[in-house]
Amino acid sequence: MSQHHRKQKWSTHSPKLRKLHKATLPQTCTNCPHPVTADMEWQVGHRQDAAMGGQPTYENTGPAHSMCPWCKRRCNQVAGGRLGAAMTNRAKRTEREQDSYRGRRRWV
Ligand SMILES: [Zn+2]
Ligand SMILES: [Zn+2]
Repeated sequence: MSQHHRKQKWSTHSPKLRKLHKATLPQTCTNCPHPVTADMEWQVGHRQDAAMGGQPTYENTGPAHSMCPWCKRRCNQVAGGRLGAAMTNRAKRTEREQDSYRGRRRWV
């Protein structure tokens, strides 16, 4: 849960957006490559996270799984707080990924 979601703006817009998106299902989840269908649990998710300047508009939101049966994760909760941490750790992680990539390449 990010600061953004506690704001009046989001609580006012979210139910309206949910209705709009519900009418378009099935749609691809905003946080994973899998479809969200009308008979699944889902919530309004951001395409561009609020922490990145994303606005609570129809264009910037879409359905996100409450629990994706393929990913086995809560798609609507993977952004926000974790995004901040991911941004902080990105440099470190990229370095590590490049190392493992080079490591694999040696054995090809
Ligand atoms: Zn998903
Ligand atoms: Zn998924």
